[in-house]
Amino acid sequence: MIAPDWFREDRLPHIYCTGCGNGTVLNCTLAAVEEMGWERDGTAFISGIGCSSRAPGYILADSLHTTHGRALAFATGVKMARPDLNVVVFTGDGDLAAIGGNHFIHACRRNVDMTVVCMNNQIYGMTGGQGSPTTPEGAFSTTTPYGSSEPAFDLAELAVAAGANYVARWTSYHVKELTKAITTGMQTPGLAFIEVRTQCPTNFGRHNKLRRVPDMIEYLRSHAMLVSKYDRLVREGAEIPEGTFSVGELVRRKRPAMGVKQ
Ligand code: SF4
Repeated sequence: MIAPDWFREDRLPHIYCTGCGNGTVLNCTLAAVEEMGWERDGTAFISGIGCSSRAPGYILADSLHTTHGRALAFATGVKMARPDLNVVVFTGDGDLAAIGGNHFIHACRRNVDMTVVCMNNQIYGMTGGQGSPTTPEGAFSTTTPYGSSEPAFDLAELAVAAGANYVARWTSYHVKELTKAITTGMQTPGLAFIEVRTQCPTNFGRHNKLRRVPDMIEYLRSHAMLVSKYDRLVREGAEIPEGTFSVGELVRRKRPAMGVKQ
């Protein structure tokens, strides 16, 4: 159940489709906030545009619902002006990696002290199911009716390469692991990036033979491989089953960071 102290019940009913994974991610994030013991007056939630970015509207705290792709730019400004605040960003794969792609890599490079939770549903959900930078090769969307011909971005690996101090990836199936990862990210000074593979039954599932919500969740569960095993298979040149992705903690380090509380 969502942490009652942080939830705006007066905003119900929410806009998410039945079976959407975004509510689970919101729940895990607020559980992590409670675990951290953060105060409402000392915490700001920031988002761009998309289904994921509606999340701050359901939280009883200050928030900025900004323009498409610019959540990290606004969040950086907030952190520079008020380093005493805890800053949490909700974003999606289209918002973060397409329109906001440069903000993403530079926020990681600067290692701005914030927690970025990306709900990666591998599609543009809110605008009708167009292909995004994380739509898998061969997957169907309204803009890839014959299957995507492009390779997908690996957002977590991108954050590692760009310099974020903490990077993890889980799915909306892995509720406990995800909550723990977000909590660890919040405890780590610098930019913490947590990618969450989530189900979008409405715009990804129904185009890709995963119309039923349990099928989508089972797909996420069965295609997730612990990063230690995944990396070993890559090193050994072993064949990795199609659609498999790594989960777990990809990096935790102590690069110099911007905007850390003194
Ligand atoms: Fe969730 Fe997809 Fe519906 Fe958006 S379109 S609310 S991501 S199920």
